Amino acid sequence: MKVALDVHTHTIVSGHAYSTIQEMAKAAAEKGLQILGMAEHGPTIKGACDAAYFNNLSVIPEEIYGVKILVGAEINILDTYGSLDLSEKSIRKLKIRIAGIHHSCYRPGTVEENTDAVIGVMKNPLIDIISHPADGTADLDYERLVQTAKETRAMLEINNSSLSPSRGKEKAWECHKQLLTLCKKYELMVIMGSDAHISFDVARYDHIYRLLQEVEFPEALIINDKPDLFWQRLKRNEK
Ligand SMILES: [Zn+2]
Ligand SMILES: [Zn+2]
Repeated sequence: MKVALDVHTHTIVSGHAYSTIQEMAKAAAEKGLQILGMAEHGPTIKGACDAAYFNNLSVIPEEIYGVKILVGAEINILDTYGSLDLSEKSIRKLKIRIAGIHHSCYRPGTVEENTDAVIGVMKNPLIDIISHPADGTADLDYERLVQTAKETRAMLEINNSSLSPSRGKEKAWECHKQLLTLCKKYELMVIMGSDAHISFDVARYDHIYRLLQEVEFPEALIINDKPDLFWQRLKRNEK
């Protein structure tokens, strides 16, 4: 697979990541990427920036070192109703719009409540990607998520960082396996995200590759080597 994109990375702006936009872009260019997304944590994560950052993104060049730059956010899903921590006005300014559950900002409910929250966000016409639904933070009904993804065109992310043993997310491997098995059954296209918090990890998908092999997941269902398809799939580019 010739990887062309990684749209889930973080820069120093996220408060616990260590590279600048320029350093991330340089790493992406060196790895031959066409598209790099920097999805900074939403304001509820301790140390992350507030809405003012997201409202001034137009100063950032569209392309750096030959790589298309999508700066945006990984917005927090706050509750079982699917509330988000950035306003619609701010979200509209983002070039990459990811939303996900983080344990420091979310009080888990029942499987049904958690699933309803994520499904509500998938149906939000502004949100393109659900980050690490299978990291084990909240119990979710993956079959319903996969079925909803088929209808809404929201993408479910397979997240390299949560699969790393150093993160200590014990359920992540099994949950990702369950999710990928369902994606294969329903022929759902998925997106891989490195969730890099430093430039060296841009487009790092090593744990994912092991998992893909284990479940014999077809490359045809991975969007990261299909940049044209990726552009079409962004809800704002939909025809
Ligand atoms: Zn982070
Ligand atoms: Zn995240």
